[in-house]
Amino acid sequence: MKEVRIMPDNPSNMPGAPNTGYVYIAGAGPGDPELLTMKADRVLRDADVILYDDLVSPELVEQYPGEKIYTGKRKDSHHFEQEEINEEIVRHALRGRTVVRLKGGDPFIFGRGGEEIATLRRHGIGYEIIPGITAAHGASAYTEIPLTMRKVSSSVAFCTGHPVSKIQVPDTDTIVYYMVASSVHDVLDMVAAKGRSGETKVAVVQNATRYNQISFSGTLDEFRKRERAVYSPALLIIGDNISQFIENSWYSRKKKVLMAGGDSRRYGDAGYIRIPFPCRKASTADLEAIKACMEGIEGFSMLFFQNKSSVSYFFKYLFEHGRDVRHLAHLSICTPSQAAAAELLTFGIIPDFCLESHSSSGVSGLLCKEGIEHEQILLPYTGHVDEAMFGELSAAGNQVTALGVFTHAPQQDEASIDLDFIDEIYFSSPACVRNFRSLYSSIPQRIRITPADDRTAEEINRQFGN
Ligand code: SAH
Repeated sequence: MKEVRIMPDNPSNMPGAPNTGYVYIAGAGPGDPELLTMKADRVLRDADVILYDDLVSPELVEQYPGEKIYTGKRKDSHHFEQEEINEEIVRHALRGRTVVRLKGGDPFIFGRGGEEIATLRRHGIGYEIIPGITAAHGASAYTEIPLTMRKVSSSVAFCTGHPVSKIQVPDTDTIVYYMVASSVHDVLDMVAAKGRSGETKVAVVQNATRYNQISFSGTLDEFRKRERAVYSPALLIIGDNISQFIENSWYSRKKKVLMAGGDSRRYGDAGYIRIPFPCRKASTADLEAIKACMEGIEGFSMLFFQNKSSVSYFFKYLFEHGRDVRHLAHLSICTPSQAAAAELLTFGIIPDFCLESHSSSGVSGLLCKEGIEHEQILLPYTGHVDEAMFGELSAAGNQVTALGVFTHAPQQDEASIDLDFIDEIYFSSPACVRNFRSLYSSIPQRIRITPADDRTAEEINRQFGN
């Protein structure tokens, strides 16, 4: 077992004492980002540090400005051990930071939240628990399997399928097994051995509430005979409340639209599921590039802040490189975001131009109105550069330098979006089409392609036409 360094008990680390951070152990829900609670969203917005798991989608955490630390399985297959995670939470909290420990589903359903609070108690760090929608509830709602049902099921149990030695078969009408991808047959054999009828209904739900949700059902006997692979994350549900509609549930009937590069209002109605696909280029903050821009700030004529968090990160680096607002006196300062404008005020700056709309037409309107051309623009951004905005600024004849002041490497390649589940792709700009082409060599015929405008349509023809 790994040795854990425990900080000595210190009265200044008691909850509420100055300089002590605070930890929220929060559930992120099963996958659909809209299943996050409002409370979790609020604390995530204020978090200095977000430690998130494998089951939490990177797109979800990306919207928040805090530092993100991925604690799941890595490509190099280094696995954060629970002790390391505990240590990391404590380390940040003792530096006075607000930490959100974000877990898939609910933190107290097979989430090891209990172990984390034991560590926090030991260190006298204040904490709160924010519940999340557990996978069983997500799967139940999105496949139309009521977990209890009058006259059919009056009890339900949540069990684990891993390790095999821990598998239990309680006497409830419905049983939901978590962590079953490699043990479905072990579980089913034990359920049959417990005397359940071979006609008992069984369902598997993979990737519940995500764009690639798959579910299939049958009887206990059928499932025991068949060799269909089950991929993680998956639940096995047993009980006669499983309806025959699960493969044709309200969720599976929705059109799945990949929003390449940006969102569009045209998909606002209930028939669609919008899957964000930022078409990113850069994936990590390049400290060399940041240094070069901060030290060469005199060479720019305009600062264009993409969003609110780009302001605070920009100033953090400006100060770190021994400069302050006086070094920006020669620059025009501009932003398309009211929130960024408010953030600029906290640094004593009133932006020269600000517009309300975040749309690219808004930006081009602003450029035209203010005569912004032939500028040397520094465009600090967090997350991903807004390709449409970058394109508009460049197209107006400006020299634009995009600078990632905070980005984090996602643990998954974007190309891991499985186009088999996609019905339509919306491209917001020609740049997104080009980036998409670098990830996917072709788009299946079946998929409908929708460009935002004529230039994007031309680029689609160039990149994917015959
Ligand atoms: N705390 C989580 C569970 C963590 S254990 C929760 O409350 O949901 C990990 C297991 O959860 C996975 O092996 C799988 O069985 C289940 N799981 C999590 N997300 C899932 C999803 N979107 N679809 C199906 N199963 C999921």
